[in-house]
Amino acid sequence: MNAHVIGFPRMGAARELKWALERHWRGELDEGGLMAVSSELKERHWAVQAGAGLDFVCVGDHSLYDHVLDAAVMVGAVPQRFRNRECGGLAAYFRMARGDADTPAMTMTKWFDSNYHYIVPELESATIFTGRAEALRRDAARAAALGFRPKPVLVGPLTFLMLARETGGASRWDHVAGLAEAYCRILGELSGVASWVQLDEPALCLDLPPQAAEAAQYVYGELARSCDGVDILLATYFGQLRENLDLAASLPVAALHLDLVRGSGQLDEALRAVPEGMGVSLGLVDGRNVWRTDLDAAARAVDEARNALGEDRVMVATSCSLLHSPMDVEQETSLDPEIRRWMAFAVQKCAEVVALKGFARGESPALFAENREALAERRGSVRVHDPAVAGRLLSVDETMLTRKSPVAHRAVVQRERFGLPLFPTTTIGSFPQTPEIRKTRLAHRRGEISETDYADWIRGRIAEAVAQQEALDIDVLVHGEPERNDMVEYFGQMLNGFCFTENGWVQSYGSRCVKPPVIYGDVSRPGPMTVDWITYAQSLTDRPMKGMLTGPVTILCWSFVRDDIPRGEICRQLALAVRDEVTDLEAAGVGIIQVDEAALREGMPLRQDEREAYLRWAVDSFRLVTGGVADETQIHSHMCYSDFNSIVQWIGAMDADVVSIEASRSGMRLLDAFDAREFPAAIGPGVYDIHSPRVPGEDEILDLLRRALRVVPAERLWVNPDCGLKTRAWPETLAALENMVAAARRLRQEQ
Ligand code: GLN
Ligand code: ZN
Repeated sequence: MNAHVIGFPRMGAARELKWALERHWRGELDEGGLMAVSSELKERHWAVQAGAGLDFVCVGDHSLYDHVLDAAVMVGAVPQRFRNRECGGLAAYFRMARGDADTPAMTMTKWFDSNYHYIVPELESATIFTGRAEALRRDAARAAALGFRPKPVLVGPLTFLMLARETGGASRWDHVAGLAEAYCRILGELSGVASWVQLDEPALCLDLPPQAAEAAQYVYGELARSCDGVDILLATYFGQLRENLDLAASLPVAALHLDLVRGSGQLDEALRAVPEGMGVSLGLVDGRNVWRTDLDAAARAVDEARNALGEDRVMVATSCSLLHSPMDVEQETSLDPEIRRWMAFAVQKCAEVVALKGFARGESPALFAENREALAERRGSVRVHDPAVAGRLLSVDETMLTRKSPVAHRAVVQRERFGLPLFPTTTIGSFPQTPEIRKTRLAHRRGEISETDYADWIRGRIAEAVAQQEALDIDVLVHGEPERNDMVEYFGQMLNGFCFTENGWVQSYGSRCVKPPVIYGDVSRPGPMTVDWITYAQSLTDRPMKGMLTGPVTILCWSFVRDDIPRGEICRQLALAVRDEVTDLEAAGVGIIQVDEAALREGMPLRQDEREAYLRWAVDSFRLVTGGVADETQIHSHMCYSDFNSIVQWIGAMDADVVSIEASRSGMRLLDAFDAREFPAAIGPGVYDIHSPRVPGEDEILDLLRRALRVVPAERLWVNPDCGLKTRAWPETLAALENMVAAARRLRQEQ
């Protein structure tokens, strides 16, 4: 029985890779220096895996930017616009990832439903696959020379094909044969340095198009035919295989890896489905979360598999790559020790996998007793269970979710109250987070500035933002969010049930890492979180001031969450806490309240038939936040993405009064989905992209607004940027908003 992990974090315990990459990009560290850091990290991480007692070390899971981009380079799928450029090598690699002055980068998108982003491979009609694995081969040889047993890991051909974007009329299915050849060459190069190769096929946990089965059968058939000498581990994760189980079991591979955390419940069926001679790798240790494994339960699954298949055909593993898990809980010296004891990060998860193997062989690893104790403590802890929260949840009923009158009626009442012009102008919340703001917040966090001095200083920034907006003649103002480091962390820090790690970083993309808050217990709000800032901002102006909150779904999606109750229930707890804030803001006279749900869409389950249940509780959570306000209180929501096609009715069902969305990059085309009869709320399609410092012209904005008017009735159209302005600097912000206000004014005159 082999013990292994599906992949290991890349960045290093002190995020060494991040710092080295950024120094390299700034020209402060040459290629040799960067490669030295990278090699050192690989070796260190192999040593961690082997030191824990795992039978393999992963090779190829490390990447200087992204493992999907690495796979694209390996198979030779380099888009035309990046070919034939003078310098090859690393510079060319980073140009694909990040673009340069002449060439836009390849696009980036979320890796399944994780918060990791990969570079989307491009398939052109002219793509000619090659298939070279020198670097991977070299790494495997190096690991072997150091005495480790390397298991090269790469994105599998089906997943590569499914994730790639077809450009210039190419069809992914025309590339199956070429891709098969490339993978055969790669595996050929690896035979001799490794006995196992792991091909990651999380795509097998998706709803697949009909062509996929044939493509997979063909490619894996070719691989089996051309390369003996390497055993293929087909790694599936992020869900159950379901109807793709038969396909997976039919492929000529040596072993099939199952995610038994996200895809729990599929073991029996899988054990029955795998043919004689195919092994099974049991993904029992959660690669996506921070909690200790219930080793007793996991050991029962190992037993079951061993009884069904025999010990030789069973491996134990993490559910998916540990890329999504922080590095080492031992680094968390300031975390509450009680809560820390419940956690396991990548290093600890390696030990858990090894303990499971030990147990199966009749040993009694000490970790079992330790985990059992920690889990029992956690289950019974008063820190986790708050009867008051449970009681409140029980009292939630449909009336709490429902505004008094329908949106059309509220619009009339609100028009009366606020007297806003046609096409009201507003912004999404944040204003530039200048280096000065960040410095001051940090100094405050370190205790170098007193509470009162800090509050005074922040009030100064709010006053500035208000004055700027009045000078610009914006209709509905915001306070600018200078007190917030991050739209989720800010709220988490003021809620019960949250804790924060010091080093719990996970890679988001490239050199960027995020440190998600951890929700360990029942969530409640001890006191107001934003009321002082917002009422101060309101006191400075006669114009309406928008209160600014982060919604429950977004807080949930961007945190590590407890695994002992369903996500929907955690979301409802968060909703009650944010609802309390809405109540307080309304009582303090704040007439317009925005509840951002930036992550509503990204929280969607991967499988079509699981989406409705998710959307139901997600939308109900939003309604629980906002359902209690009076008709004359105007509820806004903001969502920063543009792919709404399948969820417009659900956004309507949130029953907000005004919804702002990202729209400029699609040239307002996405509004077509918002049929005015089906979508009764007012809508603020973003009129310019805030991701670049480019200042949009007045005519350009006017043009977009005119286009929006073809879909949105005039009395329901708002004017705002695509998203918050925190990443921008003041000069371009003022110039862009000035043009935006001017465009709105001209549009009014045209009516
Ligand atoms: N109110 C937030 C801001 O303006 C919204 C950010 C977001 O949607 N990502 O920064
Ligand atoms: Zn946004």
